[in-house]
Amino acid sequence: MSKSLNKTEKIQWFIEKLEEEYKIRVFKDKDPYKMLIRTILSQRTRDENTDQATRNLFNKYKDIHEIVDADIEDIQELIRPAGFYRVKAARIKEVSTILLDQYGGEVPCDMKELIKLPGVGRKTANCVLVFAFELPAIPVDTHVHRISNRWGVVNTKEPEKTEVELMKIVPKDQWIILNDLMVQFGQTICRPIHPQCEICTLSEYCNYYNSEVKE
Ligand code: SF4
Repeated sequence: MSKSLNKTEKIQWFIEKLEEEYKIRVFKDKDPYKMLIRTILSQRTRDENTDQATRNLFNKYKDIHEIVDADIEDIQELIRPAGFYRVKAARIKEVSTILLDQYGGEVPCDMKELIKLPGVGRKTANCVLVFAFELPAIPVDTHVHRISNRWGVVNTKEPEKTEVELMKIVPKDQWIILNDLMVQFGQTICRPIHPQCEICTLSEYCNYYNSEVKE
């Protein structure tokens, strides 16, 4: 029988297991503006579509000045692979204009300022803080929210609550790696539908497995 662990010990155990299995992905381009736009493009689409749309956009328009001056219909065409391209193009234009007018063209490295931007919620802001500025934060996307609840380290309905609960139990020096590890795990093993529990190496302490799957 497994030793009983409290939530802090449990999440530590899960993180160690994930670190053994996944490498932290490193973004070559940590430019905060590009990271912000990439994160806006990533909403409700897959990574490969986000990458394609981001490449298309920045291959043609090199920086915030060029994007503010760009024709919105052209932006729509370039980012079409990311889906919701009309809404996202409008958002990109709006955010870029505000950054240029009010922040000297720089992306603020501060949660309070980031979430003032239209369409930028805590998840997007945290992605920018972690992946561009390398600051400790926990972006809670659908994978992080789902898996944390399946593991039983949180019991939450909204991602915002998951973030708060995770911040209490994950050591701060590990915040920065958590999203990346859990996203890779969520895309491969602990999928939204039909999680691969039978081959999962984390089942020992997983609440979902122990309550729903194990005979
Ligand atoms: Fe996810 Fe199943 Fe693994 Fe639990 S045992 S972490 S639900 S894949």
